[in-house]
Amino acid sequence: MDFSENTGLLLKAYRFSADKHSNQRRKDGAKSPYINHPIEVVQLLWEVGGVRDVNVLLAAILHDTVEDTDTRLEEISGHFGPEVLSLVLEVTDDKNLPKQERKRLQIVTAPHKSYGAKLIKLADKACNVRNLVSMPPKDWSLQRRREYLLWTEKVVAGLRGTNPALEDYYDHELASGKLLLGID
Ligand code: NDP
Ligand code: ZN
Repeated sequence: MDFSENTGLLLKAYRFSADKHSNQRRKDGAKSPYINHPIEVVQLLWEVGGVRDVNVLLAAILHDTVEDTDTRLEEISGHFGPEVLSLVLEVTDDKNLPKQERKRLQIVTAPHKSYGAKLIKLADKACNVRNLVSMPPKDWSLQRRREYLLWTEKVVAGLRGTNPALEDYYDHELASGKLLLGID
């Protein structure tokens, strides 16, 4: 696919994701627009990870649409193709399961994800750890922030050996977070 086709698809994905997330906010005190998060994730993949696979970039922009909005699977496959849908589904939690089970499944399934899904998960966790430090969820206790950081570390353990630059970036954000939250 040439440059203009890819650019058109990326613009379409931004628009699609912005529409789907338009009524949602992040959990920080300023209630940032939700779309800021997928944009951060895809930019991290591009700039830090050096990722140039357009399907991975598209899936990163769309990564929370199925989990957190009314997006139907056919919308993703129809607009962006089956490979993008497959990547999005790999990074989508089953919301019918209890939260602790979803958290446990993320840890145990991480090593078995495809290469593209591992890239997205690495960038997603790095962004969430960064957000947890710089714009923490309102009303979260110190204990809850600590537990969240330590949980991401377990997920990322199963994603290692995928992209050294992204893993270094995550490690740096995690170390800053641990220092700030007083975790040894
Ligand atoms: P949630 O899954 O409810 O919240 C974390 C998720 O929120 C992130 O993964 C991210 O997901 C999204 N998010 C939105 N805004 C932000 C932001 N500003 N910064 C970071 N993430 C943001 O977390 P849990 O309820 O699972 O809590 C995490 C840990 O805390 C768990 O291990 C749980 O056991 C524990 N816990 C502790 C409690 C306590 O009071 N001690 C109570 C409840 C849980 P996305 O990228 O998908 O948007
Ligand atoms: Zn996310």
